[in-house]
Amino acid sequence: MGNRPPITFDVIARDGEARAGILTTRRGLIETPVFMPVGTAGTVKGTRFEALEDELDARIILGNTYHLWLRPGDDVIRACGGLHQFMGWQRPLLTDSGGFQVWSLGALRKIKEEGTEFRSHLDGSLKFLSPEVSMEVQAALGSDIVMAFDECAAGEAPVEEVRRSMELTARWAQRSRTRFDSLQAAASDSGRTEATDAISGAQALFGIVQGGAHLDLRRESLCRTREIGFEGYAIGGLSVGEPKDVMWKVVSDIAPELPAEQPRYLMGVGTPEDLVEAVSRGVDMFDCVLPTRNGRTGQAFTSRGKVNVKNAQWALDRRPLDESCACSVCKRHSRAYLRHLYMSGEILASVLLTHHNLAFFLDTMRCVRQSIRSGDFTKFRREFTERLNANGPENVLSIT
Ligand SMILES: [Zn+2]
Repeated sequence: MGNRPPITFDVIARDGEARAGILTTRRGLIETPVFMPVGTAGTVKGTRFEALEDELDARIILGNTYHLWLRPGDDVIRACGGLHQFMGWQRPLLTDSGGFQVWSLGALRKIKEEGTEFRSHLDGSLKFLSPEVSMEVQAALGSDIVMAFDECAAGEAPVEEVRRSMELTARWAQRSRTRFDSLQAAASDSGRTEATDAISGAQALFGIVQGGAHLDLRRESLCRTREIGFEGYAIGGLSVGEPKDVMWKVVSDIAPELPAEQPRYLMGVGTPEDLVEAVSRGVDMFDCVLPTRNGRTGQAFTSRGKVNVKNAQWALDRRPLDESCACSVCKRHSRAYLRHLYMSGEILASVLLTHHNLAFFLDTMRCVRQSIRSGDFTKFRREFTERLNANGPENVLSIT
């Protein structure tokens, strides 16, 4: 490995604030802007890894630290050679810190300076997650990109509470950095072999900007996060129920101010339309459960808006989900057949809809990258949005 940095990032084209780049990791190249399918429990639900690699060509997927820590446990994953080996996925992985999941537990958790105490959603046992524990678990998982342990303020929280939360996130970011660095140093000092290499020693750490809807707090958080110094920067605490205009106000203000030479990641966002909008504000990386979750509930994202396969109007419809989609589901199956599968409770309905949705998200990002490189992003963005909205407001993509 020598002294090669865990990741490098090169911006190769710009169009306004939009950037096309190459994120290089030891497990492969990632062209940005990129959408990362979410693999919560070590699986992108309803999808085989062959499909993710060969047909969908997903370059990076997410793992959830909270879920994997509770089950099967970081000891099991470490003993199985790290998360890549355990899952059978050799391309890059990003793991979140668990901060958002424990925060989402609401009444089941207690946040203190030291960390967060909570009851496991699996068996009710008392657990404690801190910046140090999160870094140790993510080192055991061996992900290529590790996220700092943060706290997310409730959307409707008073400004003083959001400030307190943002300041706690800043202190936790420093503790994450310190523990992460000592783990990386220990791994590289131990004369690692190929086997231990997969576990730790060449990871990158991303910091997270918090501050709710308050631009002054967001800017302060940005400043404090930059001061600590990370290999990439994320905007967290959005898409948690706040109005869309609040999200865009924060993204427009903060994304262009994140270090230009490093990747920028908007966490947990969003619909295809949201991705394109965020790219126009300078964001490079995204993750969201929408394509997989909505696939399981019978909803397809298409270039002309969303299609609810349950609707009786598709019962005899022999057209594919999306006539402009080149995925294997659209090549082979009709809306009528997909509706039949869904109405019959067949597992294949979830599998096929998830596959198409992921194909649509990943293809959209491919078109986004191409248009930035050719200087046509503005035109692409306009046409993409017009097409989505062509069937009227009831067919507009939206979070449901
Ligand atoms: Zn398709």
